[in-house]
Amino acid sequence: MPIIPLRPLLEATDKYNFAQGAFNVNAVSQVKAAIEVHEMFRSAAILQGADLANGFMGGRGDFLKSSLEDKRIGAKNIGDAVRKFGENSPIPIVLHLDHGRDFDSVKAAIDGGYTSVMIDGSSLPFDQNVELTREVVKYAHARGVSVEGELGVLAGVEDHVFAESSTYTNPLSAVEFFRKTEVDCLAISYGTMHGAVKGKDVKLRREIVTAIKECLKHEKIFGVLVSHGSSTVPKYIVDEINNLGGEIKNADGISVNELKQAIYCGIGKINVDTDLRLAVTRNLKEFFKYNPTKRDSASVGAIYQLLEEKKNQFDPRAFITPIMDTVMYGNIPDDDVAAVVECMEKGVKEVLGTLIVEFGSVGKAPLVECPTLEEMIERYKK
Ligand SMILES: [Zn+2]
Repeated sequence: MPIIPLRPLLEATDKYNFAQGAFNVNAVSQVKAAIEVHEMFRSAAILQGADLANGFMGGRGDFLKSSLEDKRIGAKNIGDAVRKFGENSPIPIVLHLDHGRDFDSVKAAIDGGYTSVMIDGSSLPFDQNVELTREVVKYAHARGVSVEGELGVLAGVEDHVFAESSTYTNPLSAVEFFRKTEVDCLAISYGTMHGAVKGKDVKLRREIVTAIKECLKHEKIFGVLVSHGSSTVPKYIVDEINNLGGEIKNADGISVNELKQAIYCGIGKINVDTDLRLAVTRNLKEFFKYNPTKRDSASVGAIYQLLEEKKNQFDPRAFITPIMDTVMYGNIPDDDVAAVVECMEKGVKEVLGTLIVEFGSVGKAPLVECPTLEEMIERYKK
């Protein structure tokens, strides 16, 4: 099946009342694992590369310093991996840019084969956010590519996306934003937060979701609402990491129950990144615990060193820089690297399998229309 734009999948979530998890990938092996687990559950898939994940996949171990050229190379590497493992897949797959920072990042992603992009203008004043987003929509829709915007500010940190405190999305402004920009979906602020420290027992303001969806119906505007910063931060994984010598403190996620109620109110896309990071990190730590001879491996021993040096870190990108060729292209030079890749794949599958079931996208793949980008260009014109 070809890689599809996000729009038809959003329409399916709206029509059949489920949410589609959108999961961040940072390596070829994660792309492969994510596609396989969605196939297993007969769910469509949204794979996301964050702006700086593209930089990382472009070979920047120090991805915070990624240049536009790095992002271009990385976007193509992710795009190539998704096409390789997804083109003959029985499920529809979307490749989505998470937190596109500016017009150039969006263009780099689309050139690399992304079929959906987010432009995050949430730090700008409303009018400037509208203007930037509308320009991106014009450019993307003319290529059949879908667009996600953001309105309201989420607290927390996610790569370069940082905010001290959150400002909930004003439902009236959200409706106006949809009307003026014609985005396909919108990330809103309603109590979720980026990162692993979200505070205990977070209650989501799902009234905000209800209010926006209700008004959109009255105004006859199509629009799906997106929940960012929605990792559940499974306690058992955090405990396991800490039992393996990790030092992760105050980690709390959004409860699955809160997310399910938000889906009922109209959330259609749920972004999860931290959970994957945690599961992969635990698997890496566990591997070196039970295979002590691999700590001196010529190809992966350096990963063990990094795990030991950065005990409070749980972003695999901090550890896997010694195998960048594998990260970027999926090359597996020896058995030790193969074992590390297996750690990464299993971590992805454990977390995604759970959430695909909880968010209700199990079995929904056949309900999703699969237009090509060319067909989508025509649909957007109407
Ligand atoms: Zn986000």
